[in-house]
Amino acid sequence: MTSKDILVLDNDECLGSFATASLMMTIYIHYITNEFNPPRGDCPLHEHYSNMVYPYMDKFVSYLEKGIARPYLKEFIQYIHQLKLEGKIKKIVMYTAAPNNYGWVTFLSKLIPTYAGVPLDFYDVILSRNHTVFRRNAYLKSLSMIDVDTSKIVMVDDSPQNIVQCNATIIPVTKYQQHVDLLEHDFIETIKESYHPLVLNTIKTDTETYSRSEIDYSSDTELLLVICQLDQLFSH
Ligand SMILES: [Mg+2]
Repeated sequence: MTSKDILVLDNDECLGSFATASLMMTIYIHYITNEFNPPRGDCPLHEHYSNMVYPYMDKFVSYLEKGIARPYLKEFIQYIHQLKLEGKIKKIVMYTAAPNNYGWVTFLSKLIPTYAGVPLDFYDVILSRNHTVFRRNAYLKSLSMIDVDTSKIVMVDDSPQNIVQCNATIIPVTKYQQHVDLLEHDFIETIKESYHPLVLNTIKTDTETYSRSEIDYSSDTELLLVICQLDQLFSH
């Protein structure tokens, strides 16, 4: 077996159920921050947003704690960080089909390490919707974009059917769709009271537009199973 040295991680429904956390950021962008400037021209999105200061990182971390993060995400990220320190993993890639138009993907690439207590540069490469190919109603991820020798790659994803995998090793996980109502979280206290009706209306519209799972995923152990598989694959 070829030795593996690149680990690629999906985000949504794989490491967490981030849809309402992304809504929370959209609300912050609209109602409290003046620092948000969409890029002009062809500036790569991740580069554009990487120096942006996002407000209330602590509010996002506590929202992740409430169940937005998949159970054992902390242990999972810390374990991978350790493999990198030991030289068993050379490169960690975030590869998501989510768009980075509002800097959400860049933000998530900092939020996840912050939540897990590892360095902010945990991810070496960030790839988002711009790096996918839209075909047959799906955004396909092409792993040869990361390395021509795809046999060195291991990818963890809940939608393995959307990966153009070549010779990579794919670890599929079940979908994690824990819903945590934004209003159960105290983030709204950080927003000026005069904006509350608008914010509540935004949340209501979102709730009516997107169906949210009612399943309780709190006993999910998928990430522990993935740790066992990574242990085998990166044991060299
Ligand atoms: Mg996914």
